[in-house]
Amino acid sequence: MKTANKTVTATRLVQDALDKAHEFEDYNIFTFLDEKGALEKAAEIDAKIAAGEKVGRLAGVPFAIKDNFLAPFGDTTASAHILQGFPSPITATAVAKLEAEGAIPIGRTNLDAFAHGSSTENSYFGPTLNSHDRERVAGGSSGGSAVAVALNIVEFATGTDTGGSIRQPASFNGVYGLKPTYGCISRYGVVAMASSTDCIGFFTKTPDDMDLLMEIASGKDSKDLTTLDDYYNNNKIANVNKIGVIKDFDNDSVDPEIREALKNKCEALKSKGYEIVELEMPALKYALAAYYIIVPAEIASNLSRYDGVRYGFRSENSKGLNELYANTRDEGFMPENKRRIMIGNFVLSSGFYDAYFLKAAKVRTLIIKEYAAAFLKCDFILTPVAPNPAFKLGEKVNDPVAMYLEDMMSVSLNLAGVPGLAIPAGETKNGLPIGLQLVGPRRSDKALIEFSKVLEEA
Ligand code: GLN
Repeated sequence: MKTANKTVTATRLVQDALDKAHEFEDYNIFTFLDEKGALEKAAEIDAKIAAGEKVGRLAGVPFAIKDNFLAPFGDTTASAHILQGFPSPITATAVAKLEAEGAIPIGRTNLDAFAHGSSTENSYFGPTLNSHDRERVAGGSSGGSAVAVALNIVEFATGTDTGGSIRQPASFNGVYGLKPTYGCISRYGVVAMASSTDCIGFFTKTPDDMDLLMEIASGKDSKDLTTLDDYYNNNKIANVNKIGVIKDFDNDSVDPEIREALKNKCEALKSKGYEIVELEMPALKYALAAYYIIVPAEIASNLSRYDGVRYGFRSENSKGLNELYANTRDEGFMPENKRRIMIGNFVLSSGFYDAYFLKAAKVRTLIIKEYAAAFLKCDFILTPVAPNPAFKLGEKVNDPVAMYLEDMMSVSLNLAGVPGLAIPAGETKNGLPIGLQLVGPRRSDKALIEFSKVLEEA
């Protein structure tokens, strides 16, 4: 990562990033650019450098935050109408830690509203365009962040991954995207989607940048009691010998060029002396169904706070309180948000709880056990991130089930809490990036990043 010094100033780095953001304006990457604030922060860092004072490990590095991180510049909208006009009262822990090392947020990036989606087409502000093909989706929900890094506007960007929202857009745009172990990075100050699967992570161009960001951002936070101890910086790099591949993922629903890319990586690993282990993981075929019960249930609960009284947008001209709630939620949420609220309340309702939510919770336990058993047979698992490369804008937007199927290879990691790193693995004949996903046991994040360098060379 290029940090500021006496010759290349923070002001220069930030101005370059802002210029590029303007150059790519029609990609609809940013929901807000903080030009004035970013340049002021840059000037402060330059003054420190000029005075010979100590600066942080990310001094003057411009970055972008997904617009569901709270920080006091612009409104935190989560790309939803219902949050417009909501100024952040606090700064998310992850953003604060990056800023403490001198990194400079230049703006907020577009997402599927409340991070519900796999294409960034569910945004109130319209879709973000793919970095490699403007007729295709950016992936989602963190589409804006992925494209901002892929187009070299910023060195890195933050994302959230509840079921694939970092890994899938990373793979659609040819960059690295990490969903860390659940609890590795504090969720404090990030708009909640599904609290038991939400993870904070990053998009970068290189594994080394990812490692540095993880060293900085991970660790215990008294404001998020689900955070783990600071294991990341004490992680031993394990000896990696065996790589697992999941038999069931090698089928016709996966794009042939992606299957080919996975096979080629496996061959290359074999020739370097690694052993490839075939894994039977039969519970994974239920992961998507369990995810789309558990996650909407948590969404319905987390979104109940948006009532037109406490946050952002309020529908005027309502008679009485109930109408105010109903109109605000009707006008403020996107159709996909409403679909999930309906599903979530349905599966939690007294008549259906046992049949849906409880059963999904049991499936989740099976999946956790299946990963634990798999990691007795291999060190890491290598899979596709998604069944296909970036698809056409509009192709799946009216077919929610087709959109949910996008997530079939990513959601099980969130249900199990294990880390997954999306790595670039070449391009299709049409020039679309292909991504593969390296999966490890809980707390193996550092080793995963380290091993991705072996894969990069392979
Ligand atoms: N695409 C998945 C969903 O819509 C994942 C979203 C996410 O990770 N935020 O639920």
